[in-house]
Amino acid sequence: MGARDVIIEKNFCNGKWVQGTGARIAVINPSTEQPIGHFNEASAELVDDAVRAANEAFPGWSALPAAERATYMRKMTAAIRDHFEDLVAMQMENCGKPRGEAEADINGSVDCIDYFADRADELDARRQTPIEYDIPGYRSSTRLEPMGPVGFILPWNFPMKICSWKLGPALAAGCTVVIKPSEVTPFTDTFWGRAAELAGLPAGVLNVVNGTGAVTGAALSEHPGLRKISFTGSTRTGKSIMKAAAEDVKNIGLELGGKSPTLVFEDADLDLAARLAVEGVFYNSGQCCNATCRLLVHESIKDALTEKLIEEYKAVVLGTPDTDGMTMGPLASKAQYDKVTGYQDIAREEGLNCLIGGGRAAAFNTGYFVEPTLYDDVPKSSRLWQEEIFGPVLCIRTFSTEEEAIAEANDTEYGLAASIITEDDERAERVAAQLEAGHVYNNVSVAIPPQTSWGGFKQSGIGRELGPWGLAGFLEVKTVTSRQ
Ligand code: NAD
Repeated sequence: MGARDVIIEKNFCNGKWVQGTGARIAVINPSTEQPIGHFNEASAELVDDAVRAANEAFPGWSALPAAERATYMRKMTAAIRDHFEDLVAMQMENCGKPRGEAEADINGSVDCIDYFADRADELDARRQTPIEYDIPGYRSSTRLEPMGPVGFILPWNFPMKICSWKLGPALAAGCTVVIKPSEVTPFTDTFWGRAAELAGLPAGVLNVVNGTGAVTGAALSEHPGLRKISFTGSTRTGKSIMKAAAEDVKNIGLELGGKSPTLVFEDADLDLAARLAVEGVFYNSGQCCNATCRLLVHESIKDALTEKLIEEYKAVVLGTPDTDGMTMGPLASKAQYDKVTGYQDIAREEGLNCLIGGGRAAAFNTGYFVEPTLYDDVPKSSRLWQEEIFGPVLCIRTFSTEEEAIAEANDTEYGLAASIITEDDERAERVAAQLEAGHVYNNVSVAIPPQTSWGGFKQSGIGRELGPWGLAGFLEVKTVTSRQ
């Protein structure tokens, strides 16, 4: 029996697979526009059951030595490896991703859980740390304690992988979890329940509830039985989750939208610049929070770089994930297709200079395919320069000085990532220090190893995932001060 047969149409609650009782929701293959499954939405009552299970499981799970929790986590990654092909196939079918990108998602999820299993091993040693000070008669030490039962609300662009960024540190810290996958891409995230089952995790440690944001997501974010909501998605939804969390002063982690720049300086290697610029906005058909969709180019190299960019655009092979040689799939949903093509319409209304693409992909009768699109000399006031599009759409502006480039790069409400392309290391360091972004890349592709940090400045979010910061996000610090 394959992974999908086990999990389809289900929620995982207190160690059991249960059907939802709410509205019936279709899950669509974006390449064919046909349903690949249905599920009944988890009601507020089922969310309540899952939160209760997480609360009941918390004392036992948090009391285990962290190294023992790490053993369970490694059994979960073994289960994922055993179902690797099924999971890759589900990711391709449900998200329209090329095989290589789908494989990277599943491998990245395994690497992240394994990384935090290793951090759990270290956590036991750091659990109680004396504080050095000299006050006669006093001594203090800190204890790191798990936050409690926590909820995750997830997006559709990197199912499984984004969950692993939350699940790894939460389980390592000793938290129990309730996961709400995106209703657009529920399959691989629901597999976390199967992985927990195969690893023999105690009932209630990991629960999965499937449904829409308005019903299941809202019930989770408003639930007083959780100590934290860790959310990845749009800035708009992040704001409503922040409001809901205020009611009972829940902790929040928010990984939100972006409008990330690439800055190409006059000394850049132009072949590298062209490759990185398109990679940064073509990966996952541009549906990346860190898509480098604003290209700022020194005026002296703009024409030469644009020529190379157009060559890169022409090399893109749009296709369904099972098409030989395809390099870019469809957008993940009808809603996203309408959004991206809506921006192409706005560009026409604004009279933008479209160098290539600019419309729906006419060769496809079905599927949410759009043409990779390049706009030149986009005014600062354009909605395409200001707003997150989340598709394969790149906008170009020029600059004449380093100061101007930095000011333009920072002139946005977002601050998730940024990319610098220059052969001058001193300049790269100087510019990186001035950019308002959580992760800056210099002359490299946008990779996110689990040892690094992820999160945004300004309206791109609150908190950091990955690395030691990710683990800290699920730990409370308690100081005990005693008589010497
Ligand atoms: P979204 O905000 O529409 O949905 C995200 C999740 O929130 C879904 O599970 C949805 O069901 C749920 N949700 C919606 N309304 C809710 C509500 N009122 N209460 C509780 N839950 C609710 O985002 P999306 O369209 O799935 O994802 C795209 C967005 O995510 C983009 O803006 C992108 O930049 C952002 N994103 C950010 C990161 C990051 O690391 N910063 C990573 C991936 C995606």
